[in-house]
Amino acid sequence: MKKLLFSLTLFSSLTLSSAEYRTEAAHNHHDPHTMETFTQESSEYIHPDTVQGDYLTVRGMEITGFSGESLDKLQDAFAVLEVVMNSEEFKERVLNFKNSKGERAFASNKGLSNEEIYALLMEGREDLQPETQGEMNFFLKLYNRPWSSVVGYTTPDTNLININWKFFKGFGAHQVAGNLAHEWTHKMGYGHRSAKEHDSVPYAVGNIVRELAQQQLKTRKFNNLVH
Ligand SMILES: [Zn+2]
Repeated sequence: MKKLLFSLTLFSSLTLSSAEYRTEAAHNHHDPHTMETFTQESSEYIHPDTVQGDYLTVRGMEITGFSGESLDKLQDAFAVLEVVMNSEEFKERVLNFKNSKGERAFASNKGLSNEEIYALLMEGREDLQPETQGEMNFFLKLYNRPWSSVVGYTTPDTNLININWKFFKGFGAHQVAGNLAHEWTHKMGYGHRSAKEHDSVPYAVGNIVRELAQQQLKTRKFNNLVH
């Protein structure tokens, strides 16, 4: 089995397998793409108050390979992810997401509008766990491939999301939260044609979460210093 997994990994690093979604390191460390959103001045702007969203609870279902500091970091990431997903800022950013062509649409959006994508995300019905409404369910496994450029990956036939220790160990909680959000949107049925498709739901939502999580954590640090 080990041998088979190894050869699959080699295969997918040569050709981009459509069945496997991998997050490449380059796009997490250095992202030259600046995301744009419609602002309140635009006639296309959608005010977050006009769209309803359920509350999403982040739930760790099966967590394998994490312990001590890595488990602490994961729990910090879960906590900030839940705050971000349920924030008005997240809602506003998703509703008003603008792709690189200036349109209010995600790439590889399965024909869904920003509003529909937001509402479906907040329902939390993963393709393989449609009955867990209101929950962002995570089945995670930490693995270590020092030679790999893959931050994390998953396949459509499983709940499991694999996280590479090589990158996880240096990530802040906000980067972990962004990566978890990216992988989770795959569980919600969204894909990307390549790691360059920044406008896709996984990359765009992952980036929004990472940015908002970073802001959250700064504010919390600030609050801790003050109080
Ligand atoms: Zn991906």
